[in-house]
Amino acid sequence: MSEICQQLHALFSRLPRYRFPFNELAIPRNGIYVLFEKGECAHGGDRIVRVGTHTGDNQLCSRLKEHFMQENKDRSIFRKNIGRAILRRAKDSFLKQWEWDLTTRKAKEKYLPLLDREKQRQVEKAVTRYLRENFTFVVIRMEKAHERLQWERKIISTVSWCQECGPSLHWLGWHSPKKKIRESGLWLVNGLYKDGLSWAELEELKKIVWVKADDPNFKEGEEACDMHYEFTKLLNGLLQPLISCLEEILPQLSNNDNWWKDNVFDNLTVKQQRKVKQKGTPSLSSLDLAALLRVLDKNWHHISSKMDLDLEARNYVKEMQTVRNRWAHADAKGFSPDDVYRDLDTLERLALLIKAKETFIREIRSAKIPYLKRILASLSAYSANEDKETSRKKTESQESASSDIHKPESPPKPKTHAHQIFEAAVIVSRRGNGIFTRDQVRQQIGINHHKWKSGYTAIFQGMRDDAPNGALDPGLRFRNVFHRIQRGKYQLSKDGKRLVDELGI
Ligand SMILES: [Zn+2]
Repeated sequence: MSEICQQLHALFSRLPRYRFPFNELAIPRNGIYVLFEKGECAHGGDRIVRVGTHTGDNQLCSRLKEHFMQENKDRSIFRKNIGRAILRRAKDSFLKQWEWDLTTRKAKEKYLPLLDREKQRQVEKAVTRYLRENFTFVVIRMEKAHERLQWERKIISTVSWCQECGPSLHWLGWHSPKKKIRESGLWLVNGLYKDGLSWAELEELKKIVWVKADDPNFKEGEEACDMHYEFTKLLNGLLQPLISCLEEILPQLSNNDNWWKDNVFDNLTVKQQRKVKQKGTPSLSSLDLAALLRVLDKNWHHISSKMDLDLEARNYVKEMQTVRNRWAHADAKGFSPDDVYRDLDTLERLALLIKAKETFIREIRSAKIPYLKRILASLSAYSANEDKETSRKKTESQESASSDIHKPESPPKPKTHAHQIFEAAVIVSRRGNGIFTRDQVRQQIGINHHKWKSGYTAIFQGMRDDAPNGALDPGLRFRNVFHRIQRGKYQLSKDGKRLVDELGI
């Protein structure tokens, strides 16, 4: 069961990861959610700490909101259990009142007069804070209720039977008054220790997880998910040529036949060494990509002279290590087309360097095409916006020159991205004591992360009075209008405030 559990963890680790605040549109309407908790590890990644689903149709998102947003423990047993553990850890006698279920009218009549409401509110707040700060989750789209329940049960049982999935010493669940939670290491009391997944069922589940969704609401999450899947596949394609390359060169380096120890094992991190020992086979093929890249990097001096490589090649290796790490820890939002294109380019350069097969190189090149197209599309949208802005200014100055002539009212012109960003920032800053974040501005405009990343964020950066590298010029009028006061927080600069008056916002 432990091996199937390991496969389950590996499978879920490749899915887009969500955390609060999550993009509702990216979450399928129906499915199972799998939760991970900060500090809890298993099978070389994050440990599954809870699996759940919903019964009513199209209720997945509402179920997640009941956990993360609605401060009512009687609507979410998960919240109730987190609260129980928090209270018991603090030896807080309010635990007794927390147990009261206030759902029915009868219960309300009985308990409400006795309830310390202020305390109840504080505990709900603490639960919300704990949930938002510590839990991330993945979702598996599944339309039929009976299938959801069946797979949920199987996944729960598989994890509960696993000998290798255990809570850390500091796990909050140790303080739970529920024995089943403490024993299983899961925030669950039902569905434990039943029939787990068979190997055949695991394969079936893999197919369900990667099935193409046709629901437009699922599109964004699926896109990030597809992107991640494709890129991970290509990263894995690097393994074999890398192994062949190292196998050819490393044995030539040491004179004492100890190349495995001297050039490979001793260069690994402690964690990587532990993994090698667990696998028991001292061979390059037992290493994962991170370890192989590290071996390549650590032996660079020898390898580069054997292969006659220059310093630029070294940069590709370093860059590839960063790329690998970034994708290994990618979240649900995915990356912008520019980033993906750049990463694919690094991958291609490294593949060429280690003399990977032509078919693999071609595979990487064809993966680059759709991203290149999207970059070009967003650049041309940007330049069209710029053109509009220039012609608008021209018209404006003509208008003011002939302001005494009565003109019929023309239809409003579409706003540039910079204009939209500015207006949104003004609105948000009025709500928040003059301060705003990029994400608040994005939400105010009403666009998703993807759209923001591909067309807006670089312009936002260009609107700062300390515009960083890579920012786009928002046009004269919108330059220097934002001032960064601390990491991630901005306010309007003097120029910005002047523009508010000018635009009459
Ligand atoms: Zn396990």
